[in-house]
This record gives sequence, structure tokens and C-alpha cells, in this order.
Amino acid sequence: METVQIQAEKRSYPVIIGEGLRYQLGDVLQETAAGKSRFLLVVDEAVEALYRRETESQLARLLPVSTYVMPSGEGSKSVTELARLWEFAAEKEMDRKSVFVALGGGVAGDLTGFAAAGYMRGVDYIQLPTTLLAQDSSVGGKTGINLNAGKNLAGAFHPPLAVIYDIQTLHTLPDAEWRSGFAEMIKHAYLDGESFLQDLKARVQSVEDMKSPEVASWIRRSIEVKARIVEEDEREQGVRAFLNLGHTLGHALEKELGYGRITHGEGVAAGLWFALALSNDEGVGHWDLGKEKKWLESLGYPMDAPGELSAATLVESMKRDKKTSHGNIHYVLLEEPGKPRKAKVEEDTIRQLLDR
Ligand code: NAD
Ligand code: ZN
Repeated sequence: METVQIQAEKRSYPVIIGEGLRYQLGDVLQETAAGKSRFLLVVDEAVEALYRRETESQLARLLPVSTYVMPSGEGSKSVTELARLWEFAAEKEMDRKSVFVALGGGVAGDLTGFAAAGYMRGVDYIQLPTTLLAQDSSVGGKTGINLNAGKNLAGAFHPPLAVIYDIQTLHTLPDAEWRSGFAEMIKHAYLDGESFLQDLKARVQSVEDMKSPEVASWIRRSIEVKARIVEEDEREQGVRAFLNLGHTLGHALEKELGYGRITHGEGVAAGLWFALALSNDEGVGHWDLGKEKKWLESLGYPMDAPGELSAATLVESMKRDKKTSHGNIHYVLLEEPGKPRKAKVEEDTIRQLLDR
């Protein structure tokens, strides 16, 4: 079992990572549940079939539990689903001392966290992540839903009381979800420094390698990297932008290829490599681009995805998504592992590099 203490929005909470923790929730959450009234467990349909029963019976050792089941997938981060969840909470007589519990991936976490932030002007919530991507979404206190106009447009900062990460649950994840979540971990490794990155490169050359028992320690390190950046941001405004590494092109790929054609993480992996190429181009980095690409390709990331779209389309998409000024796009470049840098890069430079 590994524990990381997270500081976010003037609140401190533990992220506990271990094998089979879902069978120990009754013990692990004993102190957290003290003085609370009831649990509202939120789970999507796919995760319900796998992990509802044992989670419910563990929680029920501490407090009465009501369970809300939502459809799987990004579509549940909606105003409609939020309204249903709130009405359900009221019907089940959840009061100010109730605790919402998200069992699932980033979708369950974001919806449940936002619902908790607004229910009776704010109740507590706990995350029980079941995806690899949740190592990203469990740090930073961001919660929210999508609007028709765009992703994550309604939200709140509302850190959880605790995150209990049973990594055994990752083993039922489809490969596509391993790959998607792992890309954010790779991003954290590039942001951290040589040691974490070398470790991943040495040990992971395929999706199967991602499922190593070492994944617990990689998740811990990844969480520490994000937590450090989020904490630093509270003192030094804007450091948090480093977490956008790989996301400028990544978001454009997701949007222009169509969500579903490419996962978030696949877009981020292609975007990461492009950020390294751009760093070389701008004279900021000295990356061996061939070597970096080969590694990402071996993990199954679609490194030629940008070639499916015109450079002009991608640049226009970036301009709608990211800060721009006078024909420059605000970009996160990387000098070397652990040394990110914010830069304004000319649109034309990006267009030309995409065309190459
Ligand atoms: P998700 O929650 O939709 O899970 C992905 C899919 O895997 C779903 O179909 C789910 O049913 C299934 N699943 C989950 N756990 C499983 C398991 N153990 N076994 C088998 N299937 C399982 O998506 P995600 O990738 O975890 O998260 C993506 C969301 O996270 C996005 O909406 C994104 O905006 C959000 N996010 C939030 C933050 C944040 O800081 N709040 C950060 C990153 C991402
Ligand atoms: Zn991301």
C-alpha cells in the first residue's frame, strides 16, 4: 500500500494506492466516515457489473448506502445526468453530512465531484478510481461536466476527502483504456525528469508491459508529479499550464478526427512527440526525435494521426482551443526531461512543422 498526501485548494487529502483495497474499504474509511450520515455511491453501468457488490457491502459496514447507476461514457458528464443525480440524492434523503462516493473512472469522478460541490451548497465526496487515467483526475480538485458548447465548461474546484485506488480493478480495463491512461503517466514522466522517464522506457515496450506489478509505484510517482505542479501553482501562478504538455495538438486531434476515433491519451501521446519536435525547432531542446517516436509507437500510439488532417485544420483548431496573441499560439515546450517552458510559437512555424 502506498499513500500520497495531496494538497489542493487549501485542503489536504490522502491518495491510498494498493492491491485489493476494495475489500478493505470498511477499515480504510472508518475515520473518514466518522460523524457522517450516509453514502451515495455513484457508478457507471460497466463498473457496476464488476465492482458494485463488494464496494456496497464494505461501505454498508460504516453507513447506510444508496447507489445511483449512470450510463457508461463521456455522455454522462451532462446537465441531464447531474439533475437526475441531484434528484436521486434528495429522494434518498441525503443531508449535509452525507458523503458522495464515485466508483469508476474520470467520468464518474468529475460528475460526482461536481454534484457534491453543489448539493446542499457542498457535501463531501470520495473517489474510488478504477481506471489508469484516474491517476490524473484524482489530483487537482477539478470537477465538472460538459455543455453542448464544449468539454468541462461547467465545473468547480472541490477536492475529495480521500482517494482509495484499488489497482486490482485495472486488470479488467480494455487495452485502449490502459493505453489512454498511460499516456498521461508518460506526460508526467517527461515533466518530472530523467529518472522516472528512463524507468518507464526501460520497462515498458508494449501494452502488456503497462500491466506490470510496478504500476502501483508508477501511479504514485505520477500523482506526486501532478500534485507538486498543482501545489507550486498556488504560489507561482501559471505553473499548472505545464500540465498542458502534449494537449495543444492532442485536443486538436481529438476534436478534428472526432471523439471516439482517437482516445484522449492517444492524442496526448502524438501531441507530446510534436511538442518535442517543436522544442528542437525553436532551439529549446535537443531531442532524438526518431528514438522518442519509436518508443511511443511501440506502445501502440498513432504517431501518424496528424498526417490524416491538413496542417491548416489543426492550427485553426488549436487557435480556438488555446490562448493566442498576434499570430502566436501559447505552447508548452520541453528543454529536457523535467524542464518544461511556456513559449509563444508562431502559427506559421507550427503549420510548417506539421506539414513536414
Ligand atoms: P471513464 O470514466 O469513462 O472510463 C472509461 C471506460 O472504462 C468507461 O466505459 C468505463 O465504464 C470503463 N471502465 C472503468 N473502469 C473499468 C474497469 N476497472 N474495468 C473495465 N471497464 C472499466 O473515462 P476515464 O478515461 O477514466 O476518464 C475520462 C474523463 O476524465 C474525461 O471526462 C476527462 O475530462 C476527465 N478528466 C478529469 C480530470 C480532472 O482533473 N478532473 C483530469 C483528467 C481527465
Ligand atoms: Zn489529458
